[in-house]
Amino acid sequence: MRGEQELPVNSCDRCSAPAVYRRRYSGESLCKRHFCESIEKKVRKELRRFLSWDSFVGLAVSGGKDSAVMAYIMAKIGRQFPSMRLAGLIVDEGIEGYRDKSVVVAERLLNGLGIPYEVFRYDAEFGTRVDRIVHLSGHTNQSCTYCGVLRRRAIDILAERLATEMVLTAHNVDDIAQTILMNLFQGNVKHLTSQIVLPDSVKREKPLRGLLEKEVVMYAVLNEIEFYSNPCPYTRFALRNDIRNFLTSMEEKHSGITYSILRTAEKIEKSELRVTGRCHRCGRPASAELCKACEILEYGRELLLRSQVQAPGGADPWSRRR
Ligand SMILES: [Zn+2]
Ligand SMILES: [Zn+2]
Repeated sequence: MRGEQELPVNSCDRCSAPAVYRRRYSGESLCKRHFCESIEKKVRKELRRFLSWDSFVGLAVSGGKDSAVMAYIMAKIGRQFPSMRLAGLIVDEGIEGYRDKSVVVAERLLNGLGIPYEVFRYDAEFGTRVDRIVHLSGHTNQSCTYCGVLRRRAIDILAERLATEMVLTAHNVDDIAQTILMNLFQGNVKHLTSQIVLPDSVKREKPLRGLLEKEVVMYAVLNEIEFYSNPCPYTRFALRNDIRNFLTSMEEKHSGITYSILRTAEKIEKSELRVTGRCHRCGRPASAELCKACEILEYGRELLLRSQVQAPGGADPWSRRR
């Protein structure tokens, strides 16, 4: 919402009310009501691709703006389709001073929306936590990898436990474009050119993929949706953060470019990469002896043992592999 471009310039293009938002890539100016309607319409359009209105849907909710907006809109849609069931899936990775606070916000939000939920706590279920692994390894730049892999696993476990038919995650178009650029910059050709198919894993969809990050924030503010806005303490170490800043300034100069990154990636012909092996420890699909989640947990256990006999440090399985 930086820059004068986003300031309301005139009245709404669809009625005479004052505009609150100018959608630069389409040139539209919208009042509060028509802006919110346009956001909900984009989400519904996305949902129609994969959702039947009597599904049991898991919502991955962190308490951040994206998942708060997704839960709010899904609750609104749910009221129109009483045969649709919703369940919140909350993951507490154990990042002190950050996740403990956002979990409280997520729980309050879902209680207010009347969506039942379940919380997965790393400490209790994995026997370790992300900040402990990061601290012991000293590899702060790998924190998002550890966190991301384990978070995905935690959400799978919650969805299986509740038997939801799918999981919705709240990635917006900025998040998706950032991931594409990260794969490009890091040479992850496999992720750019292949559809990685994991047998029997939970189906995932992204209903906010048509929304810009600033539109999500605007929707949350206009609807007075509470969300936790402090960034993760590890994010400043992450490449993603630099790419986010780069992409924001690109979008300001060249509106619509975030969407074209997504379209470019969609145009790349993707081959199917089927994972056929099984993890020796948890039995889930894996391309090596251990799946990534078990590998990180095993690494965390080793570090803990080692820290009891010597100073922290040691080889990081992730940087070694790259
Ligand atoms: Zn209007
Ligand atoms: Zn495993």
